[in-house]
Amino acid sequence: MINLLDLTPDDLTAFFAARGEKPFRARQVSRWIHQRFVADIAAMTDLARPLRERLAAEAHIVGPTLIRDTTASDGTRKWLFDAGNANAVESVYIPEDDRGTLCISSQAGCALDCAFCSTGKQGFNRNLTTGEIVGQLWLANRMLLADGVTGPWIAAGRAPITNVVMMGMGEPLANFDAVVPALKTLLDDHAYGLSRRRVTLSTSGLVPWIDRLRDECPVALAVSLHAPNDALRDRLVPINRKHPLADLMAACRRYLDRAPRDFITFEYVMLDGVNDQPAHADELVRLVADVPCKLNLIPFNPFPGTEFRTSPRERIASFQKRLMNAGIVTTVRKTRGDDIDAACGQLAGRVQDRTKRRLGTRIPIAATR
Ligand code: SAH
Ligand code: SF4
Repeated sequence: MINLLDLTPDDLTAFFAARGEKPFRARQVSRWIHQRFVADIAAMTDLARPLRERLAAEAHIVGPTLIRDTTASDGTRKWLFDAGNANAVESVYIPEDDRGTLCISSQAGCALDCAFCSTGKQGFNRNLTTGEIVGQLWLANRMLLADGVTGPWIAAGRAPITNVVMMGMGEPLANFDAVVPALKTLLDDHAYGLSRRRVTLSTSGLVPWIDRLRDECPVALAVSLHAPNDALRDRLVPINRKHPLADLMAACRRYLDRAPRDFITFEYVMLDGVNDQPAHADELVRLVADVPCKLNLIPFNPFPGTEFRTSPRERIASFQKRLMNAGIVTTVRKTRGDDIDAACGQLAGRVQDRTKRRLGTRIPIAATR
């Protein structure tokens, strides 16, 4: 059986062509799935019944399996999906006044092992498929609509999710072959129709893949910097040993030739006493001097077993001020959904761990790997 969520709109056209059907059939089906979020081929009433029956004989629409659905006091909603082998991945819905953002995952676990990241500490389990990546968006839209979610853009007829950030679990560029087709479905007018500016991919800095993304499917880019020099970044973001900062900055400049936005977003997690001193800010200013960028400071979100603490609020404010004074637009990320552990780097990995934590036994993640 083919899961239609795995197919890009172009794949779907080829699928129908191979069966002697016209391209507009593919567009009809794509709209049923990605704009009306149906799960049942029989519901596609503008397709002749025999065609629906032929299609249903070899294809279906199967979203990710939901394990848990939690809503925080600020409206942030988190879905936990089964990834097999006692692993789980998460998507987080973040409603704002004028948009709905979905943070999606690209892998179960992550092999890159950044020192401050709970996903990294769990190790790598597996890549998600295109259908599992797109399925997070499909299911979120479907459930939000079914629950009667409101917002001015929804009243105007748009889908609940208007923006997607690939900032959940996993390194999206390490799963390039599944991520790019998913991005194509997100961008296609007959599917989600999101503009490239409303889709952001966050990477820890896989330099060759940043170039490939620029060539094959440029979307807004966020790069997880976290340190202003190679010595510190080698420690915090180990992939830096393979792709050091000079190479990363050069890749960012190349990316901007084709990027939908005229800046790169640099993410910088604020770790108490580690990367948050005035000298780090000054070094950061020099590092990014010739890359048009915005900086996003992320207060560190602790998780059981971590050696790090978040920088005090005043230190984050003075770090921000120092960067702003040097002419770099710098924002501090608001922590959302903290009563349900929905913040960056806190997303659950192993279902088991969560069960244990719920029972109150705080087991360091390293011990349960
Ligand atoms: N693998 C990609 C995307 C997923 S992580 C990347 O690293 O960019 C999304 C963002 O959350 C990254 O900037 C990451 O560094 C940050 N992050 C990871 N763990 C965190 C934590 N414990 N607290 C705050 N931010 C964290
Ligand atoms: Fe992987 Fe990103 Fe976490 Fe690093 S921060 S371990 S790249 S998910």
